[in-house]
Amino acid sequence: MRASSQRNMQPLQIAIDGPVASGKSTVAARLAQRLHCAFLDTGALYRAVAWLALQRGTSLADERAVLELLEAETPSIAAPGPQGRAVIVAAGKELGNELFTPEVSRAVSLIAAMPGVRDRLIPAQRAFADKRSVVMAGRDIGTVILPHASIKFFLTAALDTRVGRRQRELEARGLAIDGDALRAQVQRRDARDSGREVSPLSKAPDAIEIDTTDMTFDEVVDELERLVRAATTQRA
Ligand code: C5P
Repeated sequence: MRASSQRNMQPLQIAIDGPVASGKSTVAARLAQRLHCAFLDTGALYRAVAWLALQRGTSLADERAVLELLEAETPSIAAPGPQGRAVIVAAGKELGNELFTPEVSRAVSLIAAMPGVRDRLIPAQRAFADKRSVVMAGRDIGTVILPHASIKFFLTAALDTRVGRRQRELEARGLAIDGDALRAQVQRRDARDSGREVSPLSKAPDAIEIDTTDMTFDEVVDELERLVRAATTQRA
């Protein structure tokens, strides 16, 4: 299946949600490559706002101040590169590893709980998915951003597995962190993301839940690809 061969079809919209380090981003990026779709990690958008707020010294307790900051400099989603992955641009540069520092990870779920911030970031995410076939990973893709997605997945994994995965990911980025501190941070972020009033992390009723605890990333991608192909063949 090639997104480019779907000229006369609705763009394919694949929603992948789940808690911290459930494997969403890694799996979504690989799935997007296999299906020749673009990939957007929406967590990076929220991280970009948190990064900007930290750069500018904006209070993380003051939603109005964060919204003013967003008025002045909204992070944008760059057109996907050759690998199909879309990066986030803010303060005139493409953001990468700076989005994954402990400071940004601590700040981001406070920022993401602000209703005004979420509202402000919705149109760009939807516009990204309107223009092309996409795999989008986040917390509210299946419930809020793309409620009519072609197919929705909700990935979970045991806490220990998730902490181990995030630790390896951070090490690969050269951002090592103490295991206990990371575990506490993952639990805190999960609690905030699930407990917030606006667009909390939750499984859409029509999402397919997959527990990835005992699966490799490639096994998860194989399974998702199989399910996408089955669903889209049925629709055709
Ligand atoms: O996916 P990642 O862990 O990088 O996301 C960082 C944070 O961004 C999450 O903990 C959550 O607070 C927020 N987020 C969100 N909605 C999304 C994606 C991320 O609230 N769709």
